[in-house]
Order: sequence, then structure tokens, then C-alpha cells
Amino acid sequence: MKKISFQTLGCRLNQSETASIQNSFEANGYTVVDFGQPSDIVVINTCTVTQGGDADTRRLVHKVNRLNPNARIALVGCQAQVQKEKLAVLPNVRWIVGNQRKMDLVSVFNEHPNPPQAEVITPTIERDAFTLPTAAVDHHHTRANMKIQDGCDFFCSFCEIPYARGRARSRVFEDIVLEARALAAAGHQEIVLTGINIGTFSHEGKTLMDVIRQLDDIEGLERIRISSIEPTTIPSEIFDFMHQPHRLCRYLHIPLQSGCDEVLTGMKRKYTGGEFSRFIQHAYQKVPQICIGTDVIVGFPGETDKYFDQTVDLIRREPIHYVHVFSYSPRHMAQSRLRPDSIPAHVITRRSQILRELSARKRRMFHESLLGTTQKVLFEDYKNGFWSGLTDHYVRVKVQSDQDLSNRILEIRLQVVEGQNMRGEI
Ligand code: SF4
Repeated sequence: MKKISFQTLGCRLNQSETASIQNSFEANGYTVVDFGQPSDIVVINTCTVTQGGDADTRRLVHKVNRLNPNARIALVGCQAQVQKEKLAVLPNVRWIVGNQRKMDLVSVFNEHPNPPQAEVITPTIERDAFTLPTAAVDHHHTRANMKIQDGCDFFCSFCEIPYARGRARSRVFEDIVLEARALAAAGHQEIVLTGINIGTFSHEGKTLMDVIRQLDDIEGLERIRISSIEPTTIPSEIFDFMHQPHRLCRYLHIPLQSGCDEVLTGMKRKYTGGEFSRFIQHAYQKVPQICIGTDVIVGFPGETDKYFDQTVDLIRREPIHYVHVFSYSPRHMAQSRLRPDSIPAHVITRRSQILRELSARKRRMFHESLLGTTQKVLFEDYKNGFWSGLTDHYVRVKVQSDQDLSNRILEIRLQVVEGQNMRGEI
């Protein structure tokens, strides 16, 4: 039996896809071993969202060659799609498989069982609705990521995703429902809906709200979470599903990218800072305990100190509870790479630090607002005498317990804010 191992870089969508690919290899007689263990083949699901993502692939290939010198390596996914020549020369890389064929990797290996050098398989990405051959049952994690959409038509000027993942397309609605049932039957009580631009989901008249409505009725499924959603695509009915008896988590991750209208225009985003603020206020009024997180890109070309301050002000002012901070880096195919007004690295570092500190403060304020309340926690891990899990608003909670709390949802009284987490009692 052939041994195969996997490593995933980048986003939640990549994690969901790796889980499905891994299950398809198990169903075809392969033994899946942990990354770093001796194996015949190592699959790296790559990411190209930043220069850091690109560098991680090279670093991992060298690590595989050090730990596992006889393994043959398959590089699949986003970076494989757009940087094939660069990746093909890395040692022991035998397959470069882009996003069109990556979910079908078992067949790719059957078609090209033993290539002497890197076989490049990156056909054009189709626009059709898709199905997936196996469910993303994840034996290593309590929560399951489920893919419902891929690609994007928005072409933000900094982003390479429409080239790496192709144009927007949706998963066949019935296929989503089948997978959700399979995930619930396998014991996953929480499903995270993933995709590149999931608010644009559209299949034969069905929308994201139809997906949520349908999943809301599945037995055994206690939580539905939306991973990240573009601000202009959020359906207004979504908030009605964030209250009992519905199961949609009181949580939204909405990328802001910048709070300054001049920068947003340069990024080709589809909203102004004022519109974003109004939407956040509306969400907060509808669901007062909602947790709202965001992404910001620091150092987009032309971002002056004054423009950056507008981003800081917006985040400080609005009920935004944490920020994922990304340093701008020009991507090979993105339009903004041609702009001459780049920002020096030391300025980007300083601004990133300011935002990270603000994010930590905002998160702490949100946690303090929950002190003394009782919240349902889905427990995942055990370490050093403490079980840890998440509330539906994505707050990590630790409790001391000798019982096995794995994959249990319990009511926990939140008592202490501890760094970026909270401590509670059953
Ligand atoms: S919405 Fe913009 S940032 Fe997001 S994937 Fe599409 S092009 Fe990239």
C-alpha cells in the first residue's frame, strides 16, 4: 500500500480541499500518514496570496527533501497554477497540478504514475458548477470546513486569486446538502462554509441564504459558520438566522482592507469606508453580541500616514473585534503591481504593529463585554489539564476538567479574560 502525506498552506478553503483530497486517497487504497513521517508521496496544497505564501512552499519542499529524501512531491493549487516554471525546478517535485485538476488528484497520479521530472498539469479552469467526490470529513479537527464556492469575478487590484482560482463558480446545491449530512453523520457538529467569495454563491436560482436554510434543518448539525464574506454580498436576512432556534453563528469575518476611500478606490473595492461602517452598525443593532472580525492590507501603494489613520479611526470607532493584518506585497498578475508609489518596508512594519496592538485591545474589550455571561462552547482540544473550545462568536474558552469534553457542547460561565482567550467554569 502506498503511503502519502499532506501539508496545507494558506486559507480555510485550502484546508477543506486537502481534507477531501486526503479522503479520496484513503478511498483508493492509499495509507495517509502525518506530514514528516516516511511516505512515498508528499502533497503540498500551495498558496500564493502573499510573497510569504510563495516562500513557504520552497521552505516545505526543502524540509521534505531533508526528512524524507525518497519521497516524490506533488505541488497543487494556487501557486502551482500561476508559477509552474518556478516550482518545476525544485528538487524531487514530480507533479505540478493547478486548481482545475487538484480535486481529482488520484486520477492525475493514475494517468502520470511515475514521471521522471515535473509533470505540469494546469489546464484552464472551467466556470461550470462543480461537485466534489468525497466529503471533507476531518479526522484531526472537531469542526469541518465545507467548500461551497470557488473563484472570484471581482478583480480587486491587489489580488491574484481570479487568475489562480479562476472565475466565480458554485457547487451544485444538492451536493452541498449531501456533504453536510455526511459531515454531521461523521460527528462534526459545526460546519464552516468556505469559498473564495461565498456571498456570490448561485446555483440554479439558489443563493447563500438557501444553503443556510437547508443546513439549518440537518439533524446533528448544531452550528453553521460563515468563514469570510465580502461586505457587498451579505444578504440582509442573514441576521434572522443568528438567533435561536437557528444555528448560524453570531460571527462575521468581513474584509475591510482599508478605511480610506482613496485607497479603496485604488484597490478597486466596491464600497466606501462610510458604507462599511453603516453595515457594521446595522449588523450590531440586529445581533448585539455578534463578533465581527476583519482583514486589513497595510502599505497598499499610495497609502499615506493620513490615509492609514483613517483605517485606524474606523476600526477604533466601530464594533470590529479583531483585525487580521496583512503586509502588502505586489503579486505577479495583480494590477497594482504596476503602481510606482510603493510604501517602504519599515513604514509597513510600523503601521502593522499599530494595527496589531489595536486588534488586541479590541478583542480584549469584546471579551470583557462577555464576562459573567453563560455561553455554549464546542470543545476541541486538551492540554495541560485544560479543555479548550470556541463559542459561536469565535471566542476561545478554556476550562479545567478531568472529564473527556472532546466534541461536546456545554454551557460555560465566562469568568476571566486571559490574554487572547477567556477562562470559564462548567
Ligand atoms: S473579492 Fe477581491 S480580494 Fe477577494 S478574492 Fe475576489 S478579487 Fe481577491
